[in-house]
Amino acid sequence: MNKAMILVVEDDSSVRNLITTTLKTHDYKYITAENGKNAIMEASSYNPDIVLLDLGLPDIDGVEVIHRIRAWSNMPIIVISARSEDSDKIQALDAGADDYLTKPFEIIELLARVETVLRRYHKTEQILTEGDLVIDTASHTVKKNGEPVGLTKKEYELLLLFVRNKNIALYRETIYERIWGGEYMGDSRTVDLHVQRMRRKVGWEDKIVTVYKVGYRLEG
Ligand code: CA
Repeated sequence: MNKAMILVVEDDSSVRNLITTTLKTHDYKYITAENGKNAIMEASSYNPDIVLLDLGLPDIDGVEVIHRIRAWSNMPIIVISARSEDSDKIQALDAGADDYLTKPFEIIELLARVETVLRRYHKTEQILTEGDLVIDTASHTVKKNGEPVGLTKKEYELLLLFVRNKNIALYRETIYERIWGGEYMGDSRTVDLHVQRMRRKVGWEDKIVTVYKVGYRLEG
């Protein structure tokens, strides 16, 4: 499950650096936000695999950030907070957090929680059905009306990205960064070619639509 994308929300730069250095060492990709407003923005534009969320943020309270993300997404959220009262913990879990880690925390504990949440999250969605496709995320196979569809690794990852973000317009930049991993240098041709080839292979020319000046959207 390495290469998962993790959003680190933390206003204290020393804690933030500790977390990102750890993630980097373990091959996770990450993005950061130092306040609640940016956290919500980054969560919606990058759709990370996990959010690591501090509760004491300078603008919006972390619990409110959970509420706002939960309004449209079930992405896993792990709270990392200095607030150790049971009531704080209950409030965060009630709002929809998946797990709660109290500061100061051990690095090894953080990594274990991340792995557990990733495993749990991906297990529950092992078989995805969308339209006439059945996607098995364990074996990476795609079937259309029972017949296997041959996709390259990138095409498969692209398909999964669309299915997990149904009805959301995905920016070419977001698609590029999620699938190819590097920084987007305006290389729209790579994205366009792969999306077009993938949607032709699965017969979704009408289902994955081009969004003017943005990118693409899977209509569900
Ligand atoms: Ca804080």
